[in-house]
Amino acid sequence: MRAHNDQPPYDTRGVLKLLDDEPVLDAELLKLAHWIADYYCAPLGEVLKGMLPLSGEVRQTKLYSLTSLGQDVVRQLRTDVQTDTASSILMLLEKRPRSAEFLTKEQKNSQSTLRTLMKRGWVVLEEKQEERDPLRASAERLRAEFIGRPSTDVRLKKGERELLAFLELHPGPHNVAALAKQLKRASEAARSLGRQGSIRLEVEGISAPSGYERPIPVLNAHQEEAFRAIESAVSASQFQAFLLQGVTGSGKTEVYLRSIEATLTLGRNALLLVPEIALTPAMAGQFFQRFGKQVAILHSAFGNAERADQWRRIRNGQARVVVGTRSGVFAPVQKLGLVIIDEEHDGSYKQGENPRYHGRDVALMRAKEAGAVAVLGSATPSMESRYNADHGKYQFLRLPERIARRPMPEVDIVDMRAEFLETKQSGTFSRKLMECMKERLEKKEQTMLLLNRRGFSSFVMCRACGERLQCPNCSVVLTHHRRDRRMLCHYCNYAQKIPSQCPSCESDYIQFLGTGSERVEDELHQHLPTARIARLDRDSASGKGAYEHILGAFRNGNADILVGTQMIAKGHDIPNVTLVGVVLADIGLSMPDFRAAERSFQLLTQAAGRSGRGDMPGRVIVQTLNPDHYAIRLAAEQNYEGFYGKELEFRKWLRYPPYAACANVLVRASQQEEAMRMSTELGYVLTPPPQGLRVLGPAEAPVLRLKNEFRYQILLKAAGRGILREVLKNVREFADSRKWNATALVIDVDPISLM
Ligand code: ADP
Ligand code: ZN
Ligand code: ZN
Repeated sequence: MRAHNDQPPYDTRGVLKLLDDEPVLDAELLKLAHWIADYYCAPLGEVLKGMLPLSGEVRQTKLYSLTSLGQDVVRQLRTDVQTDTASSILMLLEKRPRSAEFLTKEQKNSQSTLRTLMKRGWVVLEEKQEERDPLRASAERLRAEFIGRPSTDVRLKKGERELLAFLELHPGPHNVAALAKQLKRASEAARSLGRQGSIRLEVEGISAPSGYERPIPVLNAHQEEAFRAIESAVSASQFQAFLLQGVTGSGKTEVYLRSIEATLTLGRNALLLVPEIALTPAMAGQFFQRFGKQVAILHSAFGNAERADQWRRIRNGQARVVVGTRSGVFAPVQKLGLVIIDEEHDGSYKQGENPRYHGRDVALMRAKEAGAVAVLGSATPSMESRYNADHGKYQFLRLPERIARRPMPEVDIVDMRAEFLETKQSGTFSRKLMECMKERLEKKEQTMLLLNRRGFSSFVMCRACGERLQCPNCSVVLTHHRRDRRMLCHYCNYAQKIPSQCPSCESDYIQFLGTGSERVEDELHQHLPTARIARLDRDSASGKGAYEHILGAFRNGNADILVGTQMIAKGHDIPNVTLVGVVLADIGLSMPDFRAAERSFQLLTQAAGRSGRGDMPGRVIVQTLNPDHYAIRLAAEQNYEGFYGKELEFRKWLRYPPYAACANVLVRASQQEEAMRMSTELGYVLTPPPQGLRVLGPAEAPVLRLKNEFRYQILLKAAGRGILREVLKNVREFADSRKWNATALVIDVDPISLM
């Protein structure tokens, strides 16, 4: 597929109409789409669809509006009150063009009347970008301004009279939420006055969260050096990639802010990608403080209208600094000069469904195409990125110490096996962790507690027959969620009641085993009854903006202890946190996945890095059953170099990235025999493997059955991208030639999880 002006050798039809004035995806983004399709071996249509959610929302809508003839008619109507459908519609259209849906809602039988009005030439139907209806915006974002008093026969309510009088006395726009603090029912009154036309209502753009302003610091020597390097690369207007490796609390964000500032000064624009959870009001506030209205935030919690608004502001150059999550990489930034990927190691950059692109790698490609500079920032760079930096593909920048020479937190490992032998109790908290938490409570300092597993108990087992309660759709055990009173599958969301008897042998000896974050919170309440405890995981933060709310409250000191899953470990800068406890560091280590150690190391190091970021030194307690595991030991030492070196040896030895280009080929079917047969056939296609390719499998996927489908997988490890691409193309062609179901074959290039 391409756009061109060449006459094809077959009959064509004329174009009827251009749907959009300008293409939704410009040439640069189209080129990126082709690259993604090719690199990830994904159908182009699927890729384009994946790029569209952002832009698809600025669809044009059809709006009815008055012609000048119609306007004359309306003026006539004013003199004598009319109540028929036609007049009502004309009056509605007088204020602004309206969609068919709106008119139908306000007025029955509007369709036939509209047709009549159009025939008379009073009304036209046009394609317009629909204006947002101010009447539906929240009070915080609504501004009201006096226009004129309504005619005397309109009866106003008390609240409306008061508001109108106030606005008349105080000309200019006023924020409705602020008005509502002084005047009763101001929000309601404003909407009704707005509808009548005696005041003007306007929606403000997304406003800057307030209260997050900080003094602008002077860069320290390391920051200065990094900033200079980035600045001079941006001014060279050529693609270049940097790895900015800075320990936790070293002030990476400040380097980003300065580099963006420099980019704007050079007349170019900037894009910053962050993991979803890091996009908090605290982060946004900092950007608004520096760049004001030039900032656009792309956040999944925003509604469609807001996102469309941001998209338009980016496209037309009003918004020159774009902050977004993974799909923000497709924002229509023009004159791109700088792309920053914060926490570049974060797994949330990889899309879990088709097309399975990695936001970081797409961002690099985008920067390359645009002649822009890419900066990957992290305290714990991915193996691939650090390897690239060591081999000259990226320029290496380092921030080796914390701001103001603050010490790195002091970390203690608690061996929970020894703890059990000494106390003869298998509690969730060791004596040391308990003691440290109590100390923080007394000193009014805050604690974060990490347990990377949600729910109350991780599984239910029958003591009599050993049966574990499984999901009927997946080959995994169900997790007990106590507050919701149900057993939940974390893979397919299947839910059922909590059993009182064993479903297999009907005995009453049901046992709840394993601890999740919900239980940690519960036990903390028992141990520390005076502590104020909050929890942050996917269950507690399920609504829109919920995690920001929980984090914000914790930051403001509304809780002493924040319990959570990996969500608490990411990027947050909360100065009063002086203790981080890891309840069980071993979760995740035993995953059948070559990245398990890397992920554990990153998670533990990042979690530890939340401690001691203010003026008070930080402490970290890591509880574990594997105190000798290198990922845990080196994370406790916060020794990235040590971990990187050791892990690199394994990767080299076993031929995993960065020493190979990997792809996971997954075959799915509802019948196990079928899935097995298809994967076997694929296996033959790959036998003997071409030179430079290693094939592992076909084998059962670690989760054999998922959402009622059986899954077999083949892992490909290739010496180079070229071979990998070619082989994958053959695989896809084979599936097409056998007419496999479109969803039967999943190709995951550069997989980050093999589950
Ligand atoms: P990182 O992302 O590297 O973990 P942050 O960017 O969150 O670190 O910075 C940690 C803290 O240090 C923030 O509160 C930030 O405002 C502050 N900070 C950054 N640079 C400086 C500086 N040069 N002088 C003083 N404070 C700074
Ligand atoms: Zn049983
Ligand atoms: Zn399930």
